[in-house]
Amino acid sequence: MKIGFIGLGLMGQPMAGHLLKAGYELFVHDVVDAAKQAIVDQGGVAVEHNQAVAETADIVITMVPDTPDVEAAMFSENGVAAGLSPGKIVVDMSSISPTATASFAQRIETLGCSYLDAPVSGGPFGAINAALTIMVGGPREAFDQVLPVFEVMGKTVTLIGTRNGDGQVAKVANQIIVGITVEAVAEALLFASKAGADPEIVREALMGGAANSIILENHGGRMLARNFEPGFRAELQQKDLNLAMQSARELGLYLPAASAAHDMYNATRANGMDKDDHISVLRVLESMANHQTTDGTKS
Ligand code: NAD
Repeated sequence: MKIGFIGLGLMGQPMAGHLLKAGYELFVHDVVDAAKQAIVDQGGVAVEHNQAVAETADIVITMVPDTPDVEAAMFSENGVAAGLSPGKIVVDMSSISPTATASFAQRIETLGCSYLDAPVSGGPFGAINAALTIMVGGPREAFDQVLPVFEVMGKTVTLIGTRNGDGQVAKVANQIIVGITVEAVAEALLFASKAGADPEIVREALMGGAANSIILENHGGRMLARNFEPGFRAELQQKDLNLAMQSARELGLYLPAASAAHDMYNATRANGMDKDDHISVLRVLESMANHQTTDGTKS
């Protein structure tokens, strides 16, 4: 089975690496040449554009940042659609709009191909350890064919529903929880520090109780270590909660906590922190609290 992989960034790089290690023939493209080299060094074949990926591979995976990037990768000149022939499967693993996904899928299906949306959760750590959670939308037959490929990259693979966009809906739900929880942990640690307690000891104590979560453990730990290297860029979290807000508008839903969290990730951009990790909401809160850091020093 020949697999194509488009988008070799923080997530795509290790995911593609696992496919190579599993013995798949891999054809890759990224608009950044340097991103391709690491995969070529591991035995992958770099091709000149996304069309060439689709011409060569049976299954074409995309892992790019946002909805317009997926549209460009699929439908621009020398894009995936131009290289497809009937029977191939396109799998978009980026986190993008559920509504745009349904329309991309329709356009791909008119070419005699199948489309799966299969966004992931778990971050670079999950990608490196082949432990991603993969949430899939699309036809069951295509899902069954791609399942062994998903299992090389992830631990929990779920067909959320057979409508295209169902996987993206699950991912937006995931990001509502993650986005709000990161903000909650930042507020709690800042509060503890401002109220005079040692936030390190508070975090350790809370990890034994009902407030514990992966986010208190991992993201809280990185907040206290003041490690704002991405990880998951604040601009990507802002994009995901933007998708939640758009969907809420379309559905006439009131999501007040997601809306407040969305504002906080907007503020990371306003403060020039959007390329840093999304735990940078802590620094936005600190900037509104007399520029004091959780360890008591000036930021
Ligand atoms: P990234 O920016 O590190 O990587 C994206 C890659 O896609 C880049 O190398 C870029 O050059 C390439 N690219 C963009 N447009 C392209 C095109 N038209 N053709 C070919 N290559 C193109 O982003 P990432 O962190 O790897 O995230 C990718 C997706 O996964 C996003 O939708 C993100 O929301 C989602 N995601 C990220 C994480 C995380 O923790 N980083 C976790 C879960 C999901």
